[in-house]
Amino acid sequence: MENYDKRTEELLLEMANKENQHNKRLMTAMWTIMIVSVVALYAIIAVVTTLIPEGPIQLVIIIVTLILFMIPCFIALKLETEAGFYECKNCHHKFVPTYKEVVMAMHTGTTRHLKCPECSKRTWCKKVLK
Ligand SMILES: [Zn+2]
Repeated sequence: MENYDKRTEELLLEMANKENQHNKRLMTAMWTIMIVSVVALYAIIAVVTTLIPEGPIQLVIIIVTLILFMIPCFIALKLETEAGFYECKNCHHKFVPTYKEVVMAMHTGTTRHLKCPECSKRTWCKKVLK
């Protein structure tokens, strides 16, 4: 029985470590997507504004680029939603909000203004991976 408990504890720790590593990989992928996208966005706008004369064509290209920039943003946001939890600032309850709640929430970095399902208060919830 004692061996069984010890083995169960080891398995739970192993599962927690794997989950933690998975969450870190998701966050790394999210930041990589965002950094590459922002660099590409600035590069495209710099090239377009220097090579194409001002006018409707330049405007259309910039608008299309900005619209296309939204695609990696939503993918990165999906990864951020799936990685770890958000911690309520009021009651420290950890929860996973829906993708829609994350998209609609104001944010600074990965801290989002979300409604806690435990205390029902809207606070600036920090992203926590464990
Ligand atoms: Zn709360």
